[in-house]
Amino acid sequence: MSNDTKNGSTNPTPASSNFLRGIIEADLAAGKHEKRVDKDGQPLPTVITRFPPEPNGYLHIGHAKSICLNFGLARDYAGRCNLRFDDTNPTKEEQEYVDTIIDSVKWLGFDWHVGDKEHLYFASDYFDQLYAMAEYLITAGHAYVDSQSADDMAKNRGNFGEAGKNSPFRDRPAAESLDLFRRMKAGEFKDGEHIVRAKIDMASPNMNMRDPAIYRIRHAHHHRTGDAWCVYPMYDYAHPIEDAIENITHSICTLEFQDHRPFYDWVLERLAEGGFFTKPLPHQYEFARLNLTYAITSKRKLLQLVEENIVDGWDDPRMPTIVGIRRRGYTPASIQLFAERIGVAKVDSWIDMSTLEGALRDDLDDKAPRAIAVLRPLKLIIDNFPEDETVECTAPVHPHHPERGNRTFPISKELWIEQEDFMEVPSKGYFRLFPGNKVRLRYGYVVECVGADKDADGNIIAVHCTYFPDSKSGTEGSANYKVKGNLHWVSAAHALEAEVRLYDRLFTDAHPDAGGKDFKLALNPNSKEVITAYVEPGVSAVQADEKLQFERHGYFVADRVDSKAGKPVFNRVVTLKDSWGK
Ligand code: ATP
Ligand code: MG
Repeated sequence: MSNDTKNGSTNPTPASSNFLRGIIEADLAAGKHEKRVDKDGQPLPTVITRFPPEPNGYLHIGHAKSICLNFGLARDYAGRCNLRFDDTNPTKEEQEYVDTIIDSVKWLGFDWHVGDKEHLYFASDYFDQLYAMAEYLITAGHAYVDSQSADDMAKNRGNFGEAGKNSPFRDRPAAESLDLFRRMKAGEFKDGEHIVRAKIDMASPNMNMRDPAIYRIRHAHHHRTGDAWCVYPMYDYAHPIEDAIENITHSICTLEFQDHRPFYDWVLERLAEGGFFTKPLPHQYEFARLNLTYAITSKRKLLQLVEENIVDGWDDPRMPTIVGIRRRGYTPASIQLFAERIGVAKVDSWIDMSTLEGALRDDLDDKAPRAIAVLRPLKLIIDNFPEDETVECTAPVHPHHPERGNRTFPISKELWIEQEDFMEVPSKGYFRLFPGNKVRLRYGYVVECVGADKDADGNIIAVHCTYFPDSKSGTEGSANYKVKGNLHWVSAAHALEAEVRLYDRLFTDAHPDAGGKDFKLALNPNSKEVITAYVEPGVSAVQADEKLQFERHGYFVADRVDSKAGKPVFNRVVTLKDSWGK
């Protein structure tokens, strides 16, 4: 590991584990999904996964885990992963969300094209099939139209210790249910007047098997099908069918769906009996969702942060949304590395934010070019440096990659250094500038501090020093000077003035919303500080979205929204070291 991140890489890399690989490998060894063909007779891959977001919000880091998992497995086992919009709920879904989700998945580095075929699907494209299959289930006696009130239905469902009661409509003739279902579809009834339910077992210990609803009336406009439908399928009914239509082999979802799996299997078994699908059917597997410390990943609470202007929009660099972490300066490679490191388990747990930050440092350390920025400027005047003269200084673009060449910048009589690099009365062990002490100006000369100017209130406004012309870094004379301090600086007349946004974690509590806590009480008042900094002049050429390491300060990115040509605005992505660790 390089010197630059020796202390920055906070977490040892855990041996990443993923129990799903074992399942897939066993299926492949058994030839479980071989010899399948699609509807055009073309052979199908033996591993097909899907990422099925509902287009009702922005994706966040938890979704990124699911994306890396599903697309990663498809990549590793020569399969494919479909991007499917699960848009069966008309009231909350919007095209805006479809667009940002597509963008986010692409940005993370994944693709749903195989050759020239695009595997991008919408559940709403299956509405005809979903409807026809529900008619079949009714006809075959596996489903019925229930006309109880919502209250009665809830009452008759029972609870964990108590069996439910059959609906008085449960045994109505199939023909009557079918007629009602068709009239529901034709718009003859109001929302909630009737509902279609699977006929399974009102006494099942699994509440999800107590005649779950499969179709409901919703007089609502759908973002893709418009007003064509006023009946919509329930998620638990639609999801297995969507999977089967798309020939999904491994349908991966989060743990809270474990109790829904028996119904998932029930739907597909009944429809296979009806000739709609052939075996092997898709199988659902559950994994632990990502819980990240110092962050919240509930769509509803993220919306609250945006609506109450606690953050500056969905892509605020402090948001755990994919658009937010992208703008913050995270790279797709660092997110993939993070997903790899945390692995995939069957038990919920918390992942520390430092694991995400560590992955970012480890990705950027080797890639990011170095530059100097002075964030809290203090004037340093070299008394014996000729007025109006400049001398060029040279530094490597990257300390471990000489092949990437050098950068140059001038030194002159007046410089900016960091305020913390001068003390009038040094504390014990302080080896930076104080009167009488010598330090090296990194890549430049050795200087000796001779005093400081103060304003009327006694504040230091400039520091004075003299330099040793034969001490320049890279020259023979430099070896004659042994100093402990090595300060970074920029030439005042040449530096680029830039807005820098110092971002930090949005919350001070590792579990801001745990146990129903009000996460607004845990907001970090210092999560954003905007300063004006002086940066090495060559940096004016950076492109929006380019990442740099500002020596000693951390990783920064030219903000992709607010940077202009020649006038970058910088976001601090992460400091060089973890300052949050215990
Ligand atoms: P909603 O409450 O709206 O359902 P959701 O976060 O489950 O919110 P979806 O659009 O349904 O959003 O999620 C798409 C996929 O991402 C699902 O397969 C879901 O399991 C997965 N996912 C969502 N949150 C996480 C998380 N924190 N960790 C891992 N996977 C997640
Ligand atoms: Mg969901």
